[in-house]
Amino acid sequence: MTGRRRSGSLNLILLGAPGAGKGTQAQGIKDAFGIPQIATGDILRAAVAAGTEVGLKADSYMDRGELVPDDVVVAIVAEQLAQDDCRDGWLLDGFPRNAAQAEALEATIREKGLAPIDRVVYLNVSEEEAVRRISGRRVCSNPECGNTYHVEFMPPPADMKCGKCGAEVVQRDDDRPETVRARLETYKRETAELVERYRGAGTLVEIDAEGKPEEVTERIFTALKASGGWAPGIAVKR
Ligand code: AMP
Repeated sequence: MTGRRRSGSLNLILLGAPGAGKGTQAQGIKDAFGIPQIATGDILRAAVAAGTEVGLKADSYMDRGELVPDDVVVAIVAEQLAQDDCRDGWLLDGFPRNAAQAEALEATIREKGLAPIDRVVYLNVSEEEAVRRISGRRVCSNPECGNTYHVEFMPPPADMKCGKCGAEVVQRDDDRPETVRARLETYKRETAELVERYRGAGTLVEIDAEGKPEEVTERIFTALKASGGWAPGIAVKR
């Protein structure tokens, strides 16, 4: 399939349990490869904060740690993929999260004649580590900034004002212990099976995501290079 893009582009999915480090790793990947990040969780949180129709639909599901209905997220992703900045690659973070979403993504790619998924980066962490990461996570309350902190690994400023933009640093509502348990259950029940789906398709790149963020980033770059020659700043023949 040719698709409408130049060589050197990369279409990536980041897959992993809540707390696996998808958001953190997305940052390094999008900067290194110059591709836009589409983070459905961020888009939904911004919609909830703005009180849009999508936000009103999504809010209660997110509060319970459940998946927002497929039609809502599939429409969000289809709209994003149609944007000009996605012509030369994209990074999906937090989507797809079940088989129906994976199928909808494949259908969108087919119907719109877009270039296919190149690789699915699966960030593999133990449940214990995922819980430790999420429970210590703190985030900037300004959706435009969204800077993240961790009480153990990257403590927020003592006055809890974001070091980047000055807004208040808070704990995400769905990072509280009751909701974290529900989100991990949702992941196991609905999302985990996608690992085998993409392994079967030959697109899965499995990464040991324990350890320091920069070590994990290096592992991702090494694995992408080994699996298809993708490297920051280097055009790839398809
Ligand atoms: P995240 O920031 O990726 O952890 O997502 C936070 C919450 O947003 C999830 O617990 C879901 O309620 C919702 N969400 C994010 N992405 C999706 C998706 N692809 N499908 C359904 N719900 C989603």
